[in-house]
Amino acid sequence: MAAHRADTGRKWAKKVVRDHDAIAVEDFRPKFLAKTTMARKAADAAISATKKAQLEMGRKHGRAVHLVHPAHTTMDCATCGARTKHALPLSERTYACTVCGAVCPRDKNSARVMLVRAGLNPTGADLVSPATC
Ligand SMILES: [Zn+2]
Repeated sequence: MAAHRADTGRKWAKKVVRDHDAIAVEDFRPKFLAKTTMARKAADAAISATKKAQLEMGRKHGRAVHLVHPAHTTMDCATCGARTKHALPLSERTYACTVCGAVCPRDKNSARVMLVRAGLNPTGADLVSPATC
């Protein structure tokens, strides 16, 4: 079981590393799995196996792997860093920033927030404008 899990994590990590120069991984702990000690241990094991595989693979291939705290990635504006007061309802697919006026597909905004947090700025200075979303 544990070996299978580690293997799955490794395969996934290899694919991710192959496809990207640098990776931001959500450093998450799902709360809903933490109701019992056993469930939490199982969840931690699965997550750390994947994370470990990811880090190893990144090192092996000379890629940077960044663990990113996932909190508020759906609430922060990737363009100006402002945080909305309320999380977007899941039905809302577009992130609209009331501070800088950026409008992004929600997933894209979250992905950019993660990359910025990881210290990777994939967009560079030119792309810090709402027009690029
Ligand atoms: Zn903004």
